[in-house]
Amino acid sequence: MVMRIDIENLRSVKNVVAVMSGKGGVGKSFVSAALAIALKELGYGVAILDADVHGPSIPWILGAESGFMGATVEGYITPLEVNGIAIASFELLLDRRESPIVWRGPLKTRAIIELVSKTKWGFRDFIIVDMPPGTGDEHLTIAQSLKPFVKGAILVLTPGDLVAHVVKKAEEFVRISGIRLLGAVVNMAYFKCPVCGTIHKIFGEYRVEGVNILAEIPIKPELSQALNEGRLIDYLKNDDKELLKIFTEAAKT
Ligand code: ADP
Repeated sequence: MVMRIDIENLRSVKNVVAVMSGKGGVGKSFVSAALAIALKELGYGVAILDADVHGPSIPWILGAESGFMGATVEGYITPLEVNGIAIASFELLLDRRESPIVWRGPLKTRAIIELVSKTKWGFRDFIIVDMPPGTGDEHLTIAQSLKPFVKGAILVLTPGDLVAHVVKKAEEFVRISGIRLLGAVVNMAYFKCPVCGTIHKIFGEYRVEGVNILAEIPIKPELSQALNEGRLIDYLKNDDKELLKIFTEAAKT
């Protein structure tokens, strides 16, 4: 089932990029947010759509937790801007952030499409969509509905996953949805000892076949702390320019 999107509202948006994963907890939200920050650093107009209804962490990661989306007289909602990045998330519409969202499949999909259609995106070079984890039916509906605007999808995985299996599923997903797979980001790929510089492959060796690897991101305790404290923008811009560079290189492709 393809749901209709308010096309007029998306005319001022050049590209939509969907960030997907085989399961939760692999760093999909972190990668979505970091790509948005990198694109902004490259001078692009960027927005991020937090479509991960049950684990909406984008507002938190970008330090927007206490903000809200606004409303226009025409019945549209305005995204919340943080450091020039526009954010749309259900989290920014709720009074009580601690309340879980309990929508089931079709309602959830409809709500996401509604959020895309009703948000006044303005002129944007990119909207990064932090998709719900997984590659199921509802993901397909979202992807197919967004398809006229989508440049492609990026797969986030960790070496701990059954990499070949996840890639196969993602390939099948993009084939059915008709969206292009732009590449994969391998998160938590290794840990580099800060004392001796030795590289440890904590989750083991991995081989990604058939998909372009856009970036390999190390496990970093300081990064984890920055994410948990909602300081990703400051962390990438000031504390870890090397990691920002990895993302700007990935964003260029
Ligand atoms: P997902 O969106 O896939 O559920 P998140 O982006 O929320 O995953 O990340 C899951 C957890 O892993 C978070 O607590 C985050 O801080 C941590 N994390 C993600 N990537 C890294 C990394 N490269 N190094 C250290 N911690 C990370």
